[in-house]
Amino acid sequence: MFAFLSGGTGTPKLLRGFLAEYPAEDLAVVVKTAEDLWYGGNYLSPDIDTVIYLCAGLLDTDTWWGVRGDTFETHEALARFGDDYFITVGDRDRATHIARADMMRAGLTLTVATRGIAEAFGVKSSVLPMCDTPVSTMVRTSGGIMHFQEYWVIHRGSVPVLEVLRSVQEPPKASTEVIAALQGAEVVILGPSNPVTSILPILECEGVVDVLKTKPVIAISPFIGDRPVSGPAADLMRARQLEPSSAGVQGLYREFVDVFVQDIRDTTEVHGALRFDTLMVDEKKSRELAREVAGIAGTLT
Ligand code: GDP
Repeated sequence: MFAFLSGGTGTPKLLRGFLAEYPAEDLAVVVKTAEDLWYGGNYLSPDIDTVIYLCAGLLDTDTWWGVRGDTFETHEALARFGDDYFITVGDRDRATHIARADMMRAGLTLTVATRGIAEAFGVKSSVLPMCDTPVSTMVRTSGGIMHFQEYWVIHRGSVPVLEVLRSVQEPPKASTEVIAALQGAEVVILGPSNPVTSILPILECEGVVDVLKTKPVIAISPFIGDRPVSGPAADLMRARQLEPSSAGVQGLYREFVDVFVQDIRDTTEVHGALRFDTLMVDEKKSRELAREVAGIAGTLT
């Protein structure tokens, strides 16, 4: 059993390779929910949806969100009602959000709702939200504090970030399902997801780091040199006083990672790191990296 800590792009690209190479039943994915929000009356859990659609073979892998070939008629019709509908949601994707919202309004936890949705899509892997209480990543800019989705979707990450904050109703606690999945895994894999907005929120859930310290853990860097492969990871690392590089990422994971992987093109030297081609530009590349990572995993167990 392989367990993954995942956001919505970097780790899913690696997961695509594992899904092609290994039985889906042997994969458990702990997904960050720190960018979830109630939106248009429904519950949007962007990374859970990405992972479920990927596992179901439905994901739009050009964008790494939404259902391939989806239409946007409801989104376009909502535009006349103002700026509140700033996130583009496809019609079929919205159906998932409606179903999830109904389940949650009926009192189901996000973990149980996610299981129901995954089953409805025929997903065989275990897809687990990191926790069952609300956590929101917020950023402080010179214009004030805003939700990460507002920073990324409305401002397109163009405003300087002074601080990355987490807004919580109660300290997040990993669900019993998450702890069991991590404990039951032979190896835990931190894919190349954004360290500040995807991996850290999972690590901040009570119980996660304690389990990781007892398991073989492999981490893959999302940086090549001082730049991430995509997205705002460098700005957000700086805002957390972390060096935006593989060295900064390795430092963040140091207390529990056994093997750190960086890209063959990376100019930053991380002592003891293994080097592979980590640029997963297509499924073939994802599969190759998955086989390399599984090979390392075999040496750790
Ligand atoms: P988000 O939830 O959509 O922000 O996605 P993640 O946090 O899961 O992943 C974002 C990170 O993935 C970025 O920091 C990218 O640098 C990294 N990334 C995306 N594609 C690749 C890739 O092919 N290889 C590597 N090494 N990193 C990647």
